[in-house]
Amino acid sequence: MNAVQAFHRRSIQDRDQFWREQATAIHWHVPFSTVVDESKLPFAKWFVGGQTNLCFNAVDRWLDSRGDQAALIWVSTEVDQEQTYTYRQLYQEVNAVAAMLKAQGVGQGDRVLIYMPMVPEAVFAMLACARLGAIHSVVFGGFASVNLAQRIDDAQPKVIVCADAGARGGKVTPYKPLLDKAISLCTAPPEKVIVVDRGLFAFEPVAGRDLEYASLRKQFDGVEIPAVWLDSSAPSYVLYTSGTTGKPKGVQRDVGGYAVALASSIKHIFNGKPGDTFLCTSDIGWVVGHSYIVYGPLIGGQTTILYEGTPVRPDGGILWSLVERFKVDTMFSAPTAIRVLKKQDPGLLKKYDLSSLRALYMAGEPLDEPTAQWISEGLGKPIIDNYWQTETGWPILAGQPGIENVPTKFGSPSFPVYGFDVRVIDEQTGEDLGPNQKGVVAIVPPLPPGAMTTIWGDDARFVETYFSSIPGRQVYSTFDWGLVDEEDYWFILGRTDDVINVAGHRLGTREIEESINSHSAVAESAVVGIADQLKGQVAVGFAVLKDPSVLDAAGATQKLEAEIMKVVDEQLGPVARPARVRFVTTLPKTRSGKVLRRAIVAVCEGRDPGDLTTIEDPTALEQIKDSL
Ligand code: AMP
Repeated sequence: MNAVQAFHRRSIQDRDQFWREQATAIHWHVPFSTVVDESKLPFAKWFVGGQTNLCFNAVDRWLDSRGDQAALIWVSTEVDQEQTYTYRQLYQEVNAVAAMLKAQGVGQGDRVLIYMPMVPEAVFAMLACARLGAIHSVVFGGFASVNLAQRIDDAQPKVIVCADAGARGGKVTPYKPLLDKAISLCTAPPEKVIVVDRGLFAFEPVAGRDLEYASLRKQFDGVEIPAVWLDSSAPSYVLYTSGTTGKPKGVQRDVGGYAVALASSIKHIFNGKPGDTFLCTSDIGWVVGHSYIVYGPLIGGQTTILYEGTPVRPDGGILWSLVERFKVDTMFSAPTAIRVLKKQDPGLLKKYDLSSLRALYMAGEPLDEPTAQWISEGLGKPIIDNYWQTETGWPILAGQPGIENVPTKFGSPSFPVYGFDVRVIDEQTGEDLGPNQKGVVAIVPPLPPGAMTTIWGDDARFVETYFSSIPGRQVYSTFDWGLVDEEDYWFILGRTDDVINVAGHRLGTREIEESINSHSAVAESAVVGIADQLKGQVAVGFAVLKDPSVLDAAGATQKLEAEIMKVVDEQLGPVARPARVRFVTTLPKTRSGKVLRRAIVAVCEGRDPGDLTTIEDPTALEQIKDSL
């Protein structure tokens, strides 16, 4: 057994003592009395009786020892700007934003929705909410009005913080009009909207509702708002994620457990220490951004880089140039970003001094072997694949060089992370499986500190969605297939459900289908994820029309496809736009009416569709094939 496995074993077998030790990594205003309350499993409360605050741990705690150290470095290749904030300056910004939110009546337990591009004000707003005990919900900037409206209605925020616009690849994307449209669709509109005006997109403020960030910032300059001491299990934030239904789930997290998990992960998984520089290329709208752009590095006393831009502008060396300039110790990216770089001049990997970099971490989607090999050889650095989910908040499986440098295997995120009692389970019998047997990756509760505590506003759905799919056992299903090889290395083998992963973005096919079906010409549709060399998967839609004769006119097919894509774009955002929409007269279904998605995917990928005894109309699959 290596040290990583021994550490894991201790976390399960000697759990209370283990987490008591990990919990010393953060500041507690009031110490906890009980490590974990598991009297109501699958609900668990960590560090019961303790009081702390995420913002205090991320900012205030470092003022004495690291006040002049850079806390946040913002680099935008979109607007060609850079700004560094020391811990002291970050403290001032966060306090001013906390004061402006407080002036709008935001207090403990109130929700604040943040719909922002990668600008420092977004980070200030997140930390300001944490300071006040308000619950933030960051919505990814690539989402459009319908997505946004659903999240506003579910979270019912008192205030929304947004920007006039973001930019990507040199193209300005207005945010404010999308937000206005979303609010017009809502049943629970916010009282106030605070707008960061970057001067990228001219907009008319809504009288009585919209406030300008810059003038509020001036008004509250120098105001200090004490961090509110919160029960360890008070909610800190809600982050929505897609599932198999059309309704996104608000993943809720706590305060104390999350702080402990992140502090400990910076040390053990990322091998980091205070004063290091962390570059995470995710987006604050995703869980990786929450944990490893904002909270993790700051709770760890590090410098975090917030990068607004793509990996290929001005050229494919931009990320490596950041590593050189800022002496980045730890970098975290996604396989898609690296696959994009593979198409660039390989000399760019050698052009910069990367001696500060210890390792490149990658997560969010399967890391294919050729990509892992290419980047590992090109950089000459360890590549650490880590597997997790929005729900878990930090890695479930990972190489953990802070504990021991165990050799990695390409295609494997190595070993279970301490705290996660993770198993490969037979989905029929519910039994644990042995080496090299494929099953569902599941976690025996309690979920560790830092993982989701419930679905916002819906405890029953939490139990039903995650803990009810394995017969005879109340275990958390990841809805991923996996196996453990004979040397105890874990492998993730794809989703068991209809969730797809496009360029590291998790999308529910059901949501895209609902959007396609909202086009007046469409009767029904099926959306599947098809393997793609660059993005891992792309969404492809198959639509049945109410009146197929509309396609008879010249050019009608392309026109309708473009129209449907536009509908999805407007409702859900460009991330969800299918790569293709094809028209068929019937969908392949079972006799009981269930769409045979796996068969569609197989046909699209040129594989054998397998057992089709339950199919109602075999010609339906032929049509799918022909339509491509
Ligand atoms: P999200 O909640 O958006 O982070 O998506 C989580 C899903 O992404 C997981 O359930 C997996 O299907 C996939 N995923 C994340 N990280 C990895 C990884 N390292 N290897 C394979 N799949 C991954």
